[in-house]
Amino acid sequence: MTFADLHLHTRFSDGTYEPAEVVWHARRHQLAALSLTDHDTIEGCAPTAAACASAGIEFIPGTELTAEQDGDEIHILGYCLDTRDPKLLVEIAKFQAVRQDRIREMVARINRLRVPLSVDAVFALANCRAPGRPHVARALVKAGLCRNLDEAFERFLRKDRPAWVPKFKMSAAVAIQLIHSAGGLAVLAHPGLNRTDAVIPAIVEAGLDGIECYHSKHGPSETTQYLEMAALHGLLITGGSDCHGSNKGRPLIGTVKLPYPFVEQLKAKAAERGAATCTPSTPIFS
Ligand code: AMP
Ligand code: FE
Ligand code: FE
Ligand code: ZN
Repeated sequence: MTFADLHLHTRFSDGTYEPAEVVWHARRHQLAALSLTDHDTIEGCAPTAAACASAGIEFIPGTELTAEQDGDEIHILGYCLDTRDPKLLVEIAKFQAVRQDRIREMVARINRLRVPLSVDAVFALANCRAPGRPHVARALVKAGLCRNLDEAFERFLRKDRPAWVPKFKMSAAVAIQLIHSAGGLAVLAHPGLNRTDAVIPAIVEAGLDGIECYHSKHGPSETTQYLEMAALHGLLITGGSDCHGSNKGRPLIGTVKLPYPFVEQLKAKAAERGAATCTPSTPIFS
């Protein structure tokens, strides 16, 4: 049996690994395929695809869009999308501009507390188009203004702390349409983490293609529950570790291994829709 990990982050959003490091770990865990699903960006896809090609690992282009349904935050994974699609690039650029404005606002609020963090220091450290709170936290530590990341979140960044700024979320229906218009498939990320099962029928109605049933933070009963839900609605089944690198203790890559037939099903559906980027191919490991 061969396996895949369809939920991975790099330093192009809030992960710590470079693409080559993710691919190195994927090889170590003998993964035949992987998808990069950085938050609100596709910036890391090209370098990760290149690293996968040298390592003999199949690369599935991906992203994880921050979305909202009936007031609840949900994450929608996009797979097999054309990362050069002009509409996708325009919409993602808008999303990223809002994330960058949010960083400026967080830093301004921190400065109002007479903590001299520079916004340029945060952007320099983030060095990506989709920066978030972890980059502000790391910059605070790097500048010697907080002892560690926990302190940064506790003093400033956690919800309802003085520098907390809500994050822009597109509606789930818009996120799904955007993924579809770029030739991709839309999958609900880690429903067990969000505990927002009540919104699932509405997003299925909006065109959801799959559910991430296997996830590092899903227990066996959650996995079973979402497998049943996927069967009930006729949705694809996906899974991944949601590894963010080494910033949250032990890296999670390798803890969720999705059997390759699920990847075949994903690619078959993408091909049915006419996606050019995810043509079925034979995995290297067998
Ligand atoms: P953002 O998308 O900018 O709101 O940032 C969310 C990211 O911040 C996620 O990757 C979380 O894991 C991380 N995060 C949230 N709370 C904490 C915390 N208390 N300590 C460390 N990281 C956190
Ligand atoms: Fe994240
Ligand atoms: Fe997520
Ligand atoms: Zn994720």
